[in-house]
Amino acid sequence: NQKKHIAILGSTGSIGTQALEVIAANSDRFQVEVLTAHSNADLLAEQALKFKANAVVIHDESKYKALKDRLFDEGIKVFCGRDALAEVVEMETIDLVLTALVGFAGLKPTMRAIAAGKQIALANKETLVVAGELITKAAREKGVNIYPVDSEHSAIFQCLSGEFHNPIEKIYLTASGGPFRGMSLQDLKSVTPAQALKHPNWDMGAKITIDSASMMNKGLEVIEAKWLFGLKPEQIDIVVHPQSIIHSIVQFEDGSMKAQMGLPDMKLPIQYALGYPERIKSDFPRFDFMKYPQLTFEKPDYKAFRNLQFAFDAMQKGGNAPCVLNAANEIAVKEFLAGNIGFLAMSDLIEDCLQNVTYIAQPRLENYFETDSETRAYASSKISSL
Ligand code: NDP
Ligand code: MG
Repeated sequence: NQKKHIAILGSTGSIGTQALEVIAANSDRFQVEVLTAHSNADLLAEQALKFKANAVVIHDESKYKALKDRLFDEGIKVFCGRDALAEVVEMETIDLVLTALVGFAGLKPTMRAIAAGKQIALANKETLVVAGELITKAAREKGVNIYPVDSEHSAIFQCLSGEFHNPIEKIYLTASGGPFRGMSLQDLKSVTPAQALKHPNWDMGAKITIDSASMMNKGLEVIEAKWLFGLKPEQIDIVVHPQSIIHSIVQFEDGSMKAQMGLPDMKLPIQYALGYPERIKSDFPRFDFMKYPQLTFEKPDYKAFRNLQFAFDAMQKGGNAPCVLNAANEIAVKEFLAGNIGFLAMSDLIEDCLQNVTYIAQPRLENYFETDSETRAYASSKISSL
């Protein structure tokens, strides 16, 4: 009855802190091995001391010395910088790596963790969007399982339990529609970052909250689903479900549909990914039918939320197109949050990048880094004209 030893990349974020709550409630099963953050050294130190981590990584080098002074006497190793993140996942004592950092930065450490044979609990969807083909191939070769943390993909994964030999006809990813559901293109022109940061059902990090408002989150999730479950683009559909109770649906070849439901709370999919194959008894709030007498469904609005179409197009085109989509979106979100571009300009920028960044039909790992850099530079050069 050995404990599972876990590394959390991005432990100070929304997913990271909720994962630590799950681990604290199940300390008989899980042991924290490594914690990492971008620059929040104070919280990282607190977490490392509380969970008796073996090592921590801080990305921001200016925070390194103070952090080391604080943790060294406690016997906790401290590393810093981008390479350290990719190296630390190889530590022999780690069984499973939870990728809970944001964006393209997840690609390198996730590849290294898979190469080192670590199981992956994947929250960092951008990594699968960018390099799904390479990641899933490497995982197959190494016998590494990728357990989805994203609630929709966890739902599908749960519905597929016991269905190993039964082909999927199609899947429906549910979308809440975000804070701007029902708005027209005209309405969306003037929405602000503050409005976009208020998600009706989920409390999440800033980047994914903006992605949810622009529907890019669902677009990224379509591509994530393609790779996780080996689907063709035409097997993936989106249905808007504003209550976020049904987390997604699988339709099998006999016409049967299985859905997974529950209150919107990321702790459940996080715990399922960490504890798989076991369902661990929890005290998470239970769903009450009478509080939700109506579950409703709508068609997504591809005209107002153009990012949805761009994501499907990039998936169809393949190669490095999803990498371009992702990098353009990361810049767009950053500039929107900084107040430098409007809400709709995010989609304009993404469209421009998809048309103008060099296309590579069969990228190798290093090509993704080139494409990411090229897209960021191109997108940044366009900001002042938007
Ligand atoms: P947060 O912004 O809340 O947290 C991000 C974490 O990653 C922080 O620990 C941050 O450190 C660290 N980090 C950020 N950038 C870098 C970088 N360049 N290099 C190293 N570390 C970095 O994000 P979320 O928890 O919301 O999201 C994490 C991932 O999970 C995303 O890919 C998101 O799409 C996915 N996801 C999130 C959901 C949610 O409910 N939040 C739901 C489904 C998926 P610091 O605190 O120091 O800045
Ligand atoms: Mg999701």
